[in-house]
Amino acid sequence: MAVEAPQGAAAVAFGSSSGRAVGSRPSESLLDGSHGSPVGSWPRNLAGITILQSVIQSWEEGTAQLGLSPSKAEKTVAAGMAAVSMTVILGNGCSSRLWTDSWAPVGPLCHFEPNLFAAISNAGRRRSVKDGLFQNRWARDIVGALTTHADRFTWKWSADGKYSASSTYRAFFAGLTVLLGAKELWKTKAAPRVKFFLWLALHRRLWTADRCKQHGHQDDDACFVCGQAAETSDHLFLGCVITRELWFSLLAPVGLTALVPEGAEDIGPWWRPQRQRLDHDARPSFDSLMLLISWSIWKERNNRTFSRAVAGTQELLRNVVREAEDWVQAGFETLAVVCPIWSCNTVVM
Ligand SMILES: [Zn+2]
Repeated sequence: MAVEAPQGAAAVAFGSSSGRAVGSRPSESLLDGSHGSPVGSWPRNLAGITILQSVIQSWEEGTAQLGLSPSKAEKTVAAGMAAVSMTVILGNGCSSRLWTDSWAPVGPLCHFEPNLFAAISNAGRRRSVKDGLFQNRWARDIVGALTTHADRFTWKWSADGKYSASSTYRAFFAGLTVLLGAKELWKTKAAPRVKFFLWLALHRRLWTADRCKQHGHQDDDACFVCGQAAETSDHLFLGCVITRELWFSLLAPVGLTALVPEGAEDIGPWWRPQRQRLDHDARPSFDSLMLLISWSIWKERNNRTFSRAVAGTQELLRNVVREAEDWVQAGFETLAVVCPIWSCNTVVM
């Protein structure tokens, strides 16, 4: 069953502006190797032919009657149009060609495996899907060498294409982002649970009031410690007035008031430059102090939230000093130098 179409319309549709005819089917001419790589083909059986196929066929037949020959550009355009426009829904495989019709998800196999297609005989190139797959006839159609080159394996993770363990290791971390403060955190002398707590804070994964509100667990995101701002990790550990007072009370006795945080900042980006203002030997103590204050504020915040127990500023300071002494006794001796100074001050207060 062929659908007839106006010959003139088909000629316009496929670029025959000169009015010259195309004497052969695009894919036929390409399959014989005279016009570069193959781009399409016609089913011999026209059952189920599409409207587009019938238009192309009418155009070819009409122009052939005029005795005109097509230009190479016209053939290429027509064949290319046919190739990109037609796909085959495979039925019994009798009408569609194995190598040049687009019946597979990857498109025409001649495009998918050009080296293999180049080794297929002319008769093999015209086989239908059914014939080609029957008893693996397609394999017997291979008449030439697939390639003259030996197989070559390239490693995509190195510039020279060669495998290396280092490039493989780097590939495992492709797209990794650096968490500021994480490197310092894991080197700090403190209990593992305290490190893990601050690691969550760096990732903004603590259940602070603002995060609880975002998840619909509560309506109010006010800070449980000061009640003056939204309770984020940045506010709670650096910006809260109670926290800053604590920082000041602990840094003033050792002459480091310049390091007192001035407001809510990202914890990681604030921590690194602050510690770099100190001598190399003093940095471990500052790192431990960073975790000590954050941990103490978090415990105070939880006491106020869940136990309704509020510690005054001085009591909170004494709790922090006692916690520091416990850390020293537990073997985290980076605070051993400053603990006696803090103890004297809290006793005086
Ligand atoms: Zn606050």
